Amino acid sequence: MTSKAHALSLKILAECSTTKARACHMTLPHSIVETPVFMPVGTQGTLKGLLPEQLEELDCKIMLGNTYHLGNRPGPELLEKAGGLHKFMNWNRSLLTDSGGFQMVSLLKLAEITEEGVKFQSPHDGSEMMLTPEKSIEIQNSIGADIIMQLDDVVHSSTTGERLEEAMWRTIRWLDRCIKAHKRPHDQSIFPIVQGGLDPELRKKCAYELIKRDVNGYAIGGLSGGEEKQDFWRMVSLSTDILPDDKPRYLMGVGFAVDLVVCAALGCDMFDCVFPTRTARFGSALVPSGQLNLKSKIFSSDFRPIDDQCKCSTCKNYTRAYLHTIVTNETVACHLLSVHNVAYQLNLMKSVHDSIKEDKFPQFIKAFFIQQFPNKDFPQWAIDALDSVNVKLNDNKSDNGKSSVVLKNKDTDSSNIENSKIS
Ligand SMILES: [Zn+2]
Repeated sequence: MTSKAHALSLKILAECSTTKARACHMTLPHSIVETPVFMPVGTQGTLKGLLPEQLEELDCKIMLGNTYHLGNRPGPELLEKAGGLHKFMNWNRSLLTDSGGFQMVSLLKLAEITEEGVKFQSPHDGSEMMLTPEKSIEIQNSIGADIIMQLDDVVHSSTTGERLEEAMWRTIRWLDRCIKAHKRPHDQSIFPIVQGGLDPELRKKCAYELIKRDVNGYAIGGLSGGEEKQDFWRMVSLSTDILPDDKPRYLMGVGFAVDLVVCAALGCDMFDCVFPTRTARFGSALVPSGQLNLKSKIFSSDFRPIDDQCKCSTCKNYTRAYLHTIVTNETVACHLLSVHNVAYQLNLMKSVHDSIKEDKFPQFIKAFFIQQFPNKDFPQWAIDALDSVNVKLNDNKSDNGKSSVVLKNKDTDSSNIENSKIS
């Protein structure tokens, strides 16, 4: 840490002339991150199935750590002794930690939310514990991530009425307590979270309140919880309309390829999701045309890599047939597929970034959708969302012949692919 250390600065390299997308350099204390960016999720200091040096090899510049897990084990005292999580886990690039609140509400049945904080029973010894906004920030200060998240009052995305409104206002009160408790503003940026469920008025109110605070970036939360996609994209879009252009916008918990491309067009810069590593555990590989289920017998004598355009170590060294054979050996297969799936997500976002810089993002979107949906059975929500930013998925007149140039990854033999759609 130097005296010149600046917690976060965003340089907009290009703005799409059609959609709300932008390509940026986000400079953090530990790395410069190209946006739009996908951030793989690590748990207990290591990504399930992946080592930090492998993420570095994949050119990953920022990953997520879970405060709930890290706060319990190894615990803030040990992390401080170790010199923060970066040193502890040997990851020298950027980190983002969540507040821990979401995990408590989702993992622990006994969580109870009061004005003071989230009360829960310790999963280790059953004792009663309280995660307050101050405690969350204290743990995140000792972890030392480049970006830290405010504690928010999380409600299910289907919640409506008084409880939803209460959660929204409490999230704002908790933000102010988090900002006050934050001891490292010089090298850690705290992101507030836009809440408000699926109520457009509440969401707008929340976003307008948050932008009054002096922070370096914003998150959009409380979505991707199984709500209707038509509601999802509208909440994303009205949030990005209000959040300032000169700060990064992080859409939490979103990671399906289609969602990433659409939400980048709606103006989001950062994404995270456990999906690519979770789906790897089920033997599923992400490819430009969707997913390959490597458990399927059709791969038993398929000696091609998962994706011949992919430069990851799994695609360089192993065939679909080999992966099919070991796919029931969870540890090894999960590891090899996780490497590929994270590589896929990072490459996808790199292509999005590059196409925005070349001002060819609309053509990229159309080519991407044709690969994912060769029969043009595009989901209606995606058609509507993209239409709202002037991209007409069903109108091919404007980009004849261009789309093949934009997409680098073309699957040559789609007949051999089990194409399971994810949205
Ligand atoms: Zn690969």
